[in-house]
Amino acid sequence: MTTIPAPSNLAFVPFVSVQNMMGLVHHIGIEKVMTDIAANIEEDFKRWELFDKTPRVASHSDVGVIELMPTSDGEMYGFKYVNGHPKNTREGLQTVTAFGLLADVDSGYPKLLTEMTVLTALRTAAMSALAAKYLAPKGATTMAMIGNGAQSEFQCLAFKAICGIDTVRLYDTDPAATAKAARNLAGFGLTVVSCSSGEESMEGAQIITTCTADKQNATILTDNMIGDGVHINAIGGDCPGKTELHRDILLRSDIFVEYPQQTWVEGEIQQLDEGHPLTELWQVFAGTAKGRTSERQITLFDSVGFAIEDFSALRYVLSAIQGTGFYEELDMLADPDDPRDLFGMLQRSNA
Ligand code: NAD
Repeated sequence: MTTIPAPSNLAFVPFVSVQNMMGLVHHIGIEKVMTDIAANIEEDFKRWELFDKTPRVASHSDVGVIELMPTSDGEMYGFKYVNGHPKNTREGLQTVTAFGLLADVDSGYPKLLTEMTVLTALRTAAMSALAAKYLAPKGATTMAMIGNGAQSEFQCLAFKAICGIDTVRLYDTDPAATAKAARNLAGFGLTVVSCSSGEESMEGAQIITTCTADKQNATILTDNMIGDGVHINAIGGDCPGKTELHRDILLRSDIFVEYPQQTWVEGEIQQLDEGHPLTELWQVFAGTAKGRTSERQITLFDSVGFAIEDFSALRYVLSAIQGTGFYEELDMLADPDDPRDLFGMLQRSNA
């Protein structure tokens, strides 16, 4: 199903730096990149049962989390290393930073090493908009964007490209973050409205995205703020003890998830009793479960980020860099003439 492009030299691994990732995105166009990553995610979710799946492996500290996210479709194996440290922005660092690798299952050899901080923002936004394509009310034009940090502009542009949103209403507890997002979004063809409260941002919005960072349970949305018929795209609650929505909203919503075994631990649904009905998004994409069924229904994508989305993004990058200069060749594989003479290779290197 997936094809692995032939590398120029088997001994070298293509490496995409942050600089080259940015070059690649500009070369292709950000909206097209996210549309294409969404297409890859949709394709991979439709063959969900083929994949090795496991909840991500998380190492928590008082200030954040470091996670490994592996998966394989039997032909390729991928993993992402990612952190989540809400305090980091106060120290001039990213809340989320990541890198990832794709390998050939047949040989076990790496085929791609890449930065994934920019790529995670692209794939998270692509996944959000893809879910909304199936769940948001028909003809939705306006999105409230609550939390205007690193992910926010990517989210706004993916919803424009994939769902046809033409207006975003921004809100952040830090007005400087809202001003930054409004500035960055100028010139992309969106009407951008800066708001001074969460309530104000939701006026007239058919889609509500929450993308805030806090290492604790927060209540970004309360039940009285949510009218019938909206779609909620809840991105920021993605760790044990880290949620964004009041429990009463969950009780009124039809809830859609990536991989339930991971979402029960990390998502908004950690506030619910075991056994609460959920729908898995892969089944919606595959046509075996229903997405939105009525105008009054509140749909909720309880997003935590799952390894298959990163796999889809990694295979997108591997194919997109072919024939471009947006990578370097890394000497990270030992390649002795005789595969058993690793020691001889080491000795000869000193000659
Ligand atoms: P960031 O730190 O750059 O931005 C977060 C913003 O939220 C900040 O501007 C902050 O001022 C704002 N904020 C905090 N509390 C708020 C509140 N009560 N109301 C409004 N705004 C508030 O972080 P980021 O990189 O944009 O990530 C945001 C969240 O998304 C993080 O929690 C991260 O872990 C999560 N995330 C999820 C996925 C996923 O796949 N679901 C992927 C990437 C990031």
